[in-house]
Amino acid sequence: MLVTPRRYALGAVEPEDCVRVRLEDGALTESRAGVDPSSETPLHRAVYAASDAGAVVHTHSHFATVMSTLVDEIPPVHYGTIAFGGNVRVARYATFGTDELAASVEEALRGRRAALLANHGAVAIADDVDRAVGLAIELEWLASVAYHATLAGQPRLLDDAELARVAERARTLRYAITEVR
Ligand SMILES: [Zn+2]
Repeated sequence: MLVTPRRYALGAVEPEDCVRVRLEDGALTESRAGVDPSSETPLHRAVYAASDAGAVVHTHSHFATVMSTLVDEIPPVHYGTIAFGGNVRVARYATFGTDELAASVEEALRGRRAALLANHGAVAIADDVDRAVGLAIELEWLASVAYHATLAGQPRLLDDAELARVAERARTLRYAITEVR
């Protein structure tokens, strides 16, 4: 897999700065001198191993991170929740960069295309980088809506039956919702 380099400002990363890592054992197969793979390489590897994701995007986006400190899953305040395959769970906390965090995220992602990482951030997965980035942006939006709605009062939630109807309708209308696993 290709992974972003450690200790870089992400906005300054060029494609050639990315580090090539063997999925099976995490061994470095190609990198420029002095360039190390992201500290979350174990997390990325675990997700690729457990799913058929073609891209994994990990962020510390603002509202996703706020919600990761407050709840065990993002409350289903909006039908856009179905884009993630169901309610987005929060993976239990573990120190960044550890195998423990990787295992926790892999578990929270089962049957889902996104998860929050408790007191840390978020992860979104898809077939390719553009779609995974798109989902990460949608996730940040959903987290922001849930946060503000909860702050303002007690939001109505959509139940499982309604989310199933929405998913069926999205399929009928051929919205681009693909199964990741
Ligand atoms: Zn992180």
